[in-house]
Amino acid sequence: MPRKEILGTLGSYINPFRITQGEEFRLADFDPADTLGFEMKKGEAADLLRHGSEWLAIEQDVLYAQDSWSVLLVFQAMDAAGKDGTIKHVMSGVNPQGCDVFSFKQPSHEELSHDFLWRYLAKVPQRGRIGIFNRSYYEDVLVVRVHRHLLEAQKIPPALITDKIWDERLADIARFEDYLTRQGVIILKFYLNLSYEEQKRRFLKRLDKPNKSWKFSPSDVRERRHWDEYMQAYEAAIRATSTEAAPWYVVPADKKWFTRLVVAAAVVEAVEKLNLQYPEISSDQAKALAKAREELEGEKKAAK
Ligand code: ATP
Ligand code: MG
Repeated sequence: MPRKEILGTLGSYINPFRITQGEEFRLADFDPADTLGFEMKKGEAADLLRHGSEWLAIEQDVLYAQDSWSVLLVFQAMDAAGKDGTIKHVMSGVNPQGCDVFSFKQPSHEELSHDFLWRYLAKVPQRGRIGIFNRSYYEDVLVVRVHRHLLEAQKIPPALITDKIWDERLADIARFEDYLTRQGVIILKFYLNLSYEEQKRRFLKRLDKPNKSWKFSPSDVRERRHWDEYMQAYEAAIRATSTEAAPWYVVPADKKWFTRLVVAAAVVEAVEKLNLQYPEISSDQAKALAKAREELEGEKKAAK
């Protein structure tokens, strides 16, 4: 398939799920099982995804050579929504040397002794690189919002903990992302939108299969009880932090093949929009290269 055609096909997957203005956003308007009417056989979807990953590998090479822009991919989701598998598949063709994945878990003692953005800022991708946050600073307005004791563990002066704290944090996150985008970090945020029913099916499947059960933690079932609170927290987060420069993608997650295609398409499109070219070399550099060639070729003759 020619490149342009692939981009066109991928492009049609993205727009319905991209949120750039949050005021009107309602999670209920998004169907976790949506595939936009596409039905694909496993092989076809895998083929398309392979093209997308190959393309991304080429783009990443130019990004690295440019050493100027960087890309931050933020993944947020309920358990078993497929964050790990999506990251693995979408990034499969990419040179590991230009890509960093960070999985953020419960904060350490040291991390809790700092402001909440501290640990994330330290991992923002360097120029020329793609950074992936598997969970992110959004946890601080999601799990921490749902479980009050986690906020208490953050050692914030009590006078600063008011009813406004979540709105304040969301505003801080929006400003943080503004700041990063003005530094040349392209930010894409993915919420893998899994349904309550599909999560249950996946948990049961994990329990059935010995090679999957290690992924299961009894606390995952306890978290399910807070499903509605999580949904409210996600909705508030997406409403407050969706911008043109750092959009959210509310990606249907009940069908894994579709999740992966949408994410791959969004990443390829975002980098493609930068229209990056390999850096041009100056005439001095060209002369130095010509000299190096002469030396190498001379060496060959001498060896004979
Ligand atoms: P998987 O379950 O697929 O292996 P995961 O991302 O759920 O991946 P876990 O080790 O199960 O990884 O869970 C990490 C936990 O850390 C999550 O429950 C998450 O909510 C929690 N966490 C992440 N960031 C924070 C934070 N800032 N404060 C408190 N808890 C956090
Ligand atoms: Mg987990």
